[in-house]
Amino acid sequence: MSPREVQQIPLVNLRRLNETYHDEFTEAILDVVGKASFINGPFVEKFEEEFAAFVGATYAIGVASGTDAVHLALRASGVGPGDEVITVANTFAATVEAIVHAGATPVLVDVDDRTLLMDPDATEAAITPRTRALLPVHLSGRPVDLGRLGAIAGRHGIDLIQDSAQAHGTTYEGRPLGAIGKAGAYSFYPGKNLGAFGDAGAVVTNDPDIAARLRSLRDHGRTGKYDHGEIGYGSRLDALHASVLSRKLAHLAEWNRRRTEVAERYVKHLADRVRIVEESPNGTGVFHHFVIRVPDRDQVRAALAEDGIQTVVHYPKPIHLMEAFHFLGLPKGSMPVSEAAALDMISLPIDPMITDDEVDIVAAAVLRAAG
Ligand SMILES: *Cc1c(COP(=O)(O)O)cnc(C)c1O
Repeated sequence: MSPREVQQIPLVNLRRLNETYHDEFTEAILDVVGKASFINGPFVEKFEEEFAAFVGATYAIGVASGTDAVHLALRASGVGPGDEVITVANTFAATVEAIVHAGATPVLVDVDDRTLLMDPDATEAAITPRTRALLPVHLSGRPVDLGRLGAIAGRHGIDLIQDSAQAHGTTYEGRPLGAIGKAGAYSFYPGKNLGAFGDAGAVVTNDPDIAARLRSLRDHGRTGKYDHGEIGYGSRLDALHASVLSRKLAHLAEWNRRRTEVAERYVKHLADRVRIVEESPNGTGVFHHFVIRVPDRDQVRAALAEDGIQTVVHYPKPIHLMEAFHFLGLPKGSMPVSEAAALDMISLPIDPMITDDEVDIVAAAVLRAAG
């Protein structure tokens, strides 16, 4: 017995997932080694077909990361210098970085206080003659109000491009996200609901021209083996990742169901005494994160850490308050909902492998510290 018999509950238990599926994941890697097909080729094509089907899109194009997926989705949709793209202050930096990399100007709007997702009224108010696209983020895997945002995009003749990096399997009004809008960007960062063994991502679209442009852009603008039609990028999805992702994708629906069960268990324990970020009214999320909001957030996190429970804040600083984005010229106070949420959010441990006992331990610790 160790002197301190504290159970360690990580935010995401990837080690347990890898132990559980060890033989399958190892086989996936050895398949690629055996065929020595590392770049493009059958493993990548197979995964792209399977992933497109899973998210309800016609095409999926594998790329090197989720960040590249957002960036290349914007570029392939024709976004470039002189264009404005509207996104939210409450997101991961990569969403906004991608707009800058595409040569466009990010325009930030605040989020809805109940869901912490893109506020459609604020979005419509931010539209100018230069607005080229809306880039909403399905944060924590909860779908944004695609009905209203889609109507706004349609009314103004601009594109709807989704940052679905946290939303593998999310649906809106019963439809999978891949069926909606111009394009969607996914990340397979290891901790995402569908995670590779390193960096990886994909863009999905129903537009054959955008799909073709993406296949070229991710591969140095190639038009032939050594012929190049435009300046592109070295941003292919590695076959090793694709092979592992294919194996994992076969389990994803079941893993998302388990995440939902875990979330329901947290709700049952906590709802009476702790504020929980609300689910989207017209959609079904996949609980990439389970987020509560508590006063004295840092003390609550410290108490949980004492109990061996890891928590994270997604995200502790809204985009406009970070040095990299000071050039946007948005002062403190300009995004009040995002700024308030950054001070009181906590993401609790959730993944398909967490046990009911562990969920009960986490919930009890939250109630002791914050209830
Ligand atoms: C993870 C993430 C990204 C970037 O994905 P990477 O694979 O880490 O490059 C972009 N947007 C959001 C909302 C994310 O959560």
